Amino acid sequence: MTTQQIKTRDQVEEAYTWDLTAMFADDAAWEQELTELQEKLPKLAAVQGSLSESPEQLTGAIEVLLDTQRSLEKIYVYASMKNDQDQNNTTYQTLDARAMQLYSQYAQTVAFFEPELLAIPEETLSKWIEENDSLAFYRQMLEDKTRFRAHVLSQEEELLLAQASEIFDGANKTFGLLNNADLVFPAIEDENGQQIQLTHSLYGKMLESSDRRVRQDTFKAFYSVYDQFKNTMASVLSTQIKTNNYKAKVRRFNSAREAALFRNNIPESVYDTLLSTVENRLSLLHRYVALRKDLLKVDNLEMYDMYTPLLGDAPIKFNYEEAKEITLKALAPLGDDYVSIMQEAFDERWIDLFENKGKRSGAYSSGTYDSKPYILMNWQDNVNWLYTLVHELGHSAHSYLTHKHQEYAYGDYSIFLAEIASTTNENLLTNYLLETYQEPHVRLYILNHFLDGLKGTMFRQTQFAEFEHFMYESDANGQPLTQQFLSDNYREMNAKYYGPSVNSDSEIALEWTRIPHFYYNYYVFQYATGFAAATAFSNWILAGKEGALEKYLGFLKSGSSQYAIDTMKTAGLDMTQSDYIDAALDVFENRLNEFETLLAQKK
Ligand SMILES: [Zn+2]
Repeated sequence: MTTQQIKTRDQVEEAYTWDLTAMFADDAAWEQELTELQEKLPKLAAVQGSLSESPEQLTGAIEVLLDTQRSLEKIYVYASMKNDQDQNNTTYQTLDARAMQLYSQYAQTVAFFEPELLAIPEETLSKWIEENDSLAFYRQMLEDKTRFRAHVLSQEEELLLAQASEIFDGANKTFGLLNNADLVFPAIEDENGQQIQLTHSLYGKMLESSDRRVRQDTFKAFYSVYDQFKNTMASVLSTQIKTNNYKAKVRRFNSAREAALFRNNIPESVYDTLLSTVENRLSLLHRYVALRKDLLKVDNLEMYDMYTPLLGDAPIKFNYEEAKEITLKALAPLGDDYVSIMQEAFDERWIDLFENKGKRSGAYSSGTYDSKPYILMNWQDNVNWLYTLVHELGHSAHSYLTHKHQEYAYGDYSIFLAEIASTTNENLLTNYLLETYQEPHVRLYILNHFLDGLKGTMFRQTQFAEFEHFMYESDANGQPLTQQFLSDNYREMNAKYYGPSVNSDSEIALEWTRIPHFYYNYYVFQYATGFAAATAFSNWILAGKEGALEKYLGFLKSGSSQYAIDTMKTAGLDMTQSDYIDAALDVFENRLNEFETLLAQKK
């Protein structure tokens, strides 16, 4: 904790703020764009009913749509980024609210587009694409949208579903309100004897305490609340699962998972392969957990012992100037062109670096097709923020290269691919730090950082993915998802993942009650597949595998010009196979070996 006063926005040195004037010279220019967009909306509305007339009409309609969307993005993203700079600034609160209003106006205007497109018979559309060169450019985009044809119902049925959409969102909404607004957590005594009322974010922080009594009190107090509401939580979660199973069924999918993965055209085998490959290597996680038990010198390792640092204070830390130097060196294996993009990010003020009063917390990479790929940070001089910097730069470089090499229609990328570029950069940083630091205590720290990261991203997220799929299948097979059923099975799965060194026969059986990701409809597995894919790419690049770097850069430039799974194949990675997951777990194993050896030498 720093006693130094946090600066107000106008006290922050300009060099450390993002340059949004490159997006709009001033707020008046934003107003101008907004006026122009309001004039474009009637043009968009006017193409309604004309899509099926001719290939020329359809091409024209697509272009009006894309032009409107592009302008909307600029307005929307600028206002939200300005608002994030200082959320107490009423000028930008207002701009942000106006942008949101405009967005909903746009959404209503454009609602006709996809149903009308899907109503064009498949043969007609294919023929038009063959015959008309301008329309042929949109082939991939059109195929991606019209894949859904077989799952669209009659007009009346679609209307019934649309009218029920708020009802379908009910479970998720109820969980959010209960979990974020209504549940009140007890106070516990911290290390200094202060009474602290628990919140979601404090829960994670307090579990990192080196005082075991604090960790235990935190864990017990937190779960005592969920224990009181476990039947309600089971009912809400069960309703969410039933809703998605129902929607999948009425849209003629075989399962909720098939429907969810269909959105990004991901084969279900990718999911199954993840679960089975990780399951085969769970002994690695068991070993790491056992090591934790040894290091903490406890008779019974509890789930609340899983997040406390193993090695005390960090032996290395960096200020921002040093972090920039390290970034350029660590990412050098990606080639001079890539490194010069990093230099441009630093020199051209892509990054809003320091915390100020009212600034949004955390970090992100954002921007539009026409803007710089900006980064919001809340920099502190430590290793975690160095990792955050290279991570967000990975996202930004991916956006930068995609925008540079693709037209607007293909200028975004699938959520399935989104974390690969950022994680590849993190892997290259880990590799650089391990090459740079030979002192055992520093290596232990870096290895621990990596092992914890992989545990959280690959093992824990796969556990969630497995439990999520288990719930959907159980419900589809007619099994009532009672609290007892969910808790018993969660306890069992937890024991399978973490192994015999930790006690799973505890409040952890209730963890399913508090995981927002179980309401995200088959989203969470992508964290694990993305991490593994990134490890494959960084391994190949570091090993100098022939063509690997060019293919990886090709991926960063490809946007949504292909389906995600094909983009990966073109880049040399077949994500329907298991070897890329095994390769990531091999890295875990090698580093775990070194970690164990160094610890043994220390004794
Ligand atoms: Zn990210």
